[in-house]
Amino acid sequence: MDLEQVRKSVRNIPDYPKPGIHFKDVSTAYQNGEIFNFISQAIYENYKNLGITKVVGIESRGFILGGVLAEKLNAGFIPIRKPGKLPAKIYSQSYDLEYGSDTLEIHQDALNSNDIVLIHDDLLATGGTASAAIDLVRRFGVSQIYANFFIELDFLNGINKINNSVPVWSLIHF
Ligand code: AMP
Repeated sequence: MDLEQVRKSVRNIPDYPKPGIHFKDVSTAYQNGEIFNFISQAIYENYKNLGITKVVGIESRGFILGGVLAEKLNAGFIPIRKPGKLPAKIYSQSYDLEYGSDTLEIHQDALNSNDIVLIHDDLLATGGTASAAIDLVRRFGVSQIYANFFIELDFLNGINKINNSVPVWSLIHF
């Protein structure tokens, strides 16, 4: 197993969910046990010595590897969710994404100033979603924030939106 095989396992869906968007379908990568294990292990290796205390996963595809990474890192898992899903007091942040706009929410008691946080999502496109997640996590005054993506779409330069504020690392690039 190598990164090229992982790359090839991601299905490209042209013009989904609307014309001009080339959707990267991670389900074809995650459905293969050997590939799924390789992906989670490779990301874990990159973060295992950084003292991560909380993995923050972004709804919904960020929950899949986010949960696995939290378990591997012996860290807690915190969901960042779409509006109206979290039952307790929340912080809220609006943002633009590649195909529309949305709002993200996090529980007000999810993190504290001692936390070293790894934000995870399946894919970095324009960086709007990740920037909103970073803004939410910043409100807690945590000691360090890292951001990780399974896939980064280099041509959209999402990295420019967030790289100056937190260290970013993605496993594969298109
Ligand atoms: P962005 O805010 O533009 O960086 O978009 C990132 C979020 O939208 C992630 O949660 C992705 O799952 C989703 N997304 C955006 N563009 C794509 C794409 N081309 N293929 C798959 N997912 C995408």
